[in-house]
Amino acid sequence: MGINSNAFQKCINPDCGAEFDYVRAFFKCPECGELLDAQYNWDKIEIPHRLSEFAKRWANRTNPLDFSGVWRFRELLNFCDDKYKVTIGEGQTILQQNDAVAEYAGVKPGCLYLQYEGLNPSGSFKDNGMAAAFSHAKMVGATSSACASTGNTSASVALYAHHCGLKCTVFIGSGRIAFGKLSQGIEYGAQTIQILGDFDDCMRQVQDVCTKLGLYLLNSLNPFRLEGQKTIMYRIIEGLGWEVPDWIVVPGGNLGNSSAFGKAFYELKQLGLIERIPRMAIINATGADTLTELVNNKKLIWNDGRVNQKIIDDYYTALTARNFSPHTCASAIEISRPVNLKKCLRAIDICSGVVRAVTDEEILDAKAIIGKFGLGCEPASAATIAGLKNLITEGIIGSNQRIACVLTGHPLKDPNVTVDYHKEKQGKFSNPPIEAPNDIDEIIKLIK
Ligand SMILES: [Zn+2]
Repeated sequence: MGINSNAFQKCINPDCGAEFDYVRAFFKCPECGELLDAQYNWDKIEIPHRLSEFAKRWANRTNPLDFSGVWRFRELLNFCDDKYKVTIGEGQTILQQNDAVAEYAGVKPGCLYLQYEGLNPSGSFKDNGMAAAFSHAKMVGATSSACASTGNTSASVALYAHHCGLKCTVFIGSGRIAFGKLSQGIEYGAQTIQILGDFDDCMRQVQDVCTKLGLYLLNSLNPFRLEGQKTIMYRIIEGLGWEVPDWIVVPGGNLGNSSAFGKAFYELKQLGLIERIPRMAIINATGADTLTELVNNKKLIWNDGRVNQKIIDDYYTALTARNFSPHTCASAIEISRPVNLKKCLRAIDICSGVVRAVTDEEILDAKAIIGKFGLGCEPASAATIAGLKNLITEGIIGSNQRIACVLTGHPLKDPNVTVDYHKEKQGKFSNPPIEAPNDIDEIIKLIK
């Protein structure tokens, strides 16, 4: 084993269960091709007796690891020594209670909380994962990194890669990336390769390129990235005074977040740090609703790790047969072959999860409400409020339950969608600019 035997990697397939040293970089099980987990020898790790003990790290914020919203919970993702840990101040996020957005969604005052992951350094939740994954990359001595991206990953990878001196190449689908995100990747110096295809095509290419050239892969196939994303849940619990909410609502794209959140709660329960696990709602866009179809219509379940692969294969074969390419205004979740599907099924099992899909119209209206009454978000994030509204109407989520919605990205990630919605009067809450002649009297008449 390596220099620190607190952690190891383990295949999620129970019929394989192969274990590997944590100082190796894989993005799938070398034995069977399934996803890998980071796992811990918890008995060797000194864990606080109560989650609230993490609060004392705030008094020591001049230490960058105590300032980081990821590494201040480092005992819960204890796979690398401090000397390898990378941080650029990620995870300084806000959990905002918001009654106006609650009213829109049909939730009682005081019950809805918005977790603003757009406040991270690159403007999305990805920075949580990259802090952890780049620490692993440094530990294994990687010099070059790569990712496929709908946009947020490329921005975050580019930022972290250059911070820790790694080369970085990002693969994006042609014409399928929001402008704010593209601008970040190229500004941060990533070599950006635009493939004629969609995200799923990029994802396939990047895996082969990484294998052939020995690049370190930063997509959420990387088990250490998901370890960083667990901390979003720790911060929600922290924001609630170290209490667990009743529901977590999260957008569903490549399903890394939902997978990480399920693992986070499972571990906290196992460690006796929480008494109950919240439920989770995962929200797809209707134009990219693989998870909704597979779970709700094809009845795909985790089944203790023995997932019915034929259901998945048949579904993907049918997508290919009709040349299906996902389409939604929420580009961050415009994914039809989510790589973390099986881990997400496990999270649904752990959290008694539900899955729903919402239309682009519902997403855009919810986004306008979050913008008007909150701090704003990118379209995919607004799927949470749109989905919540429907789940309240259905009676699945109670209007007086305590709900935390994860807003994954900053509103400036995708300015075109915002401007089109308002300027072109596309929705119920459009707020178009008013044209005025260059005349004071005429201008005054227009001001309400
Ligand atoms: Zn395996």
